[in-house]
Amino acid sequence: MGSATAYEFAKRGRRVLALDQFDVPNALGAYVGVTRIIRLAYSEHSKYVPLLRRSYELWRDLESVANEPLLFITGGIDAGEERSDTIKGSLQSCREHALAHEVMSASDVSRRFPGYRLPRQMIVVYQPDGGFLMSERCVVAHVNAALSHGAEVHARECVRGWDATPGHVVVTTDRGRYETGTLVLTAGPWTPKTVTRLAPLVVAERQVLLWTQPRKPEHFQPASFPIFNMEAPEGRFYGFPVHHVPGFKIGKYHHRHESVEADSVDRDCHPEDEALLREGIRRYFPDADGPTLAMKVCLFANTADGHFVIDHHPDAKNVIVAAGFSGHGFKFCGVVGEIAVDLAIEGSTRWDVELFRMGRLTDEGGSKRPRPTRHS
Ligand SMILES: Cc1cc2nc3c(=O)[nH]c(=O)nc-3n(C[C@H](O)[C@H](O)[C@H](O)COP(=O)(O)OP(=O)(O)OC[C@H]3O[C@@H](n4cnc5c(N)ncnc54)[C@H](O)[C@@H]3O)c2cc1C
Repeated sequence: MGSATAYEFAKRGRRVLALDQFDVPNALGAYVGVTRIIRLAYSEHSKYVPLLRRSYELWRDLESVANEPLLFITGGIDAGEERSDTIKGSLQSCREHALAHEVMSASDVSRRFPGYRLPRQMIVVYQPDGGFLMSERCVVAHVNAALSHGAEVHARECVRGWDATPGHVVVTTDRGRYETGTLVLTAGPWTPKTVTRLAPLVVAERQVLLWTQPRKPEHFQPASFPIFNMEAPEGRFYGFPVHHVPGFKIGKYHHRHESVEADSVDRDCHPEDEALLREGIRRYFPDADGPTLAMKVCLFANTADGHFVIDHHPDAKNVIVAAGFSGHGFKFCGVVGEIAVDLAIEGSTRWDVELFRMGRLTDEGGSKRPRPTRHS
């Protein structure tokens, strides 16, 4: 979100300094693990669909700026029982926004995409627009694009605190002190440290990804295997065809339900982590149940309702917070950058951001008091 925001500021001719505590790119941000799903029929809420349409456009624009393929369309599968939130939500988005889709039975899916072995009680909403993004390359592309428009980017520089008064913000890092008119905070799982107001409201959660060697590799190629988002009795699995690195990739939302602090999370992968993901592979993708090729820990930053926070800080109108992307934010980077910069420069945005108001998560309804604040 930070790299997209920096690009957006620079593209609009603004002077921008982007700071990251680690390298650019780094191996600890929420975007690691090579790929992220993008889908248009959105089971989480139909209000995301206009933002998704814009996101697809922005990813294609970024591809042409970077001269590199970043977005791969494979088709997308939402799977679950007919009455599941995933199926109901996905179909609602399709209906409200007239999205191309097909409803398929489990056996139809196996005939068309033989890597899938879904139980009879599941149905599938197939969306032709589903696919994946090369997330780490996308961050690099946004940073390069920002640099080429004159942005300044400092890696290995940690924001320690900020202090805002109307029209003026002082940012203190472990290397220096900066004065600016506006500040956009996009600290991902480190948000509780950077936006203390959000500390109880955005919670980092440990996640694990697993790549396995398919026994029938031909069934797990981008041309034969759509990405999926599946609500199963064991939980919600998601996954990808083999691409760029070896192996079929699978993850499970809220993995082992481990709330953590981003700086002290256990980044090792354990047999219990693998067992939980293997269960999903054996049951639903048995032809992918070959040897382990890789595993990786990364972090969600969850809000209570799973929706994002993109808003003015309640105590400082010139500080914008974009956080709490709750395990589904990557696909929106470009449009989040647009919204954050709209709010920073114009004070408002043409996008419907009601769902992302910070006040919904707090008792006080998000009152914006323009008084000086100190944050660490
Ligand atoms: C396992 C997993 C799978 C996911 N799958 C999907 C998916 O398929 N599709 C999808 O759309 N989304 C997915 N997501 C979610 C998506 O990756 C995140 O929503 C997105 O990366 C969040 O972006 P962010 O910029 O908020 O956080 P990050 O990507 O973590 O970036 C935050 C950056 O801020 C820096 N930072 C933090 N604090 C400071 C500080 N004090 N000073 C300086 N720098 C600081 C960090 O170093 C980091 O680089 C997934 C996430 C995970 C973990």
